Amino acid sequence: MDQYYNLIIGLIAIFAVFFILRIFNFAFGRKKFCPNCGYIGRPRTHTKGSIILEIFLWLFFIIPGIIYSLWRLTSRYRACPMCGHRNMIPLDSPRAKKTLESK
Ligand SMILES: [Zn+2]
Repeated sequence: MDQYYNLIIGLIAIFAVFFILRIFNFAFGRKKFCPNCGYIGRPRTHTKGSIILEIFLWLFFIIPGIIYSLWRLTSRYRACPMCGHRNMIPLDSPRAKKTLESK
């Protein structure tokens, strides 16, 4: 049972790091340009699945909960809040500059 305990502590540490990175990104995240609709701003993080199911799995079935959490973390992506386009590009990239200049 000790091994499971260490595994869970390790995973909680990983999630804590992800959480801190997310806050950091929110506070200092740079604006990006959407090549699809022309929106300029911070991309929004989209996470698949549901937090309620995740908590439920963690409370009652640890292992599926871990798998579900890992799936949610790895399938997470950042997209344009306006049109949902997945590949927003940095504002200072040559492509964004070119598109903005031609407008
Ligand atoms: Zn867009």
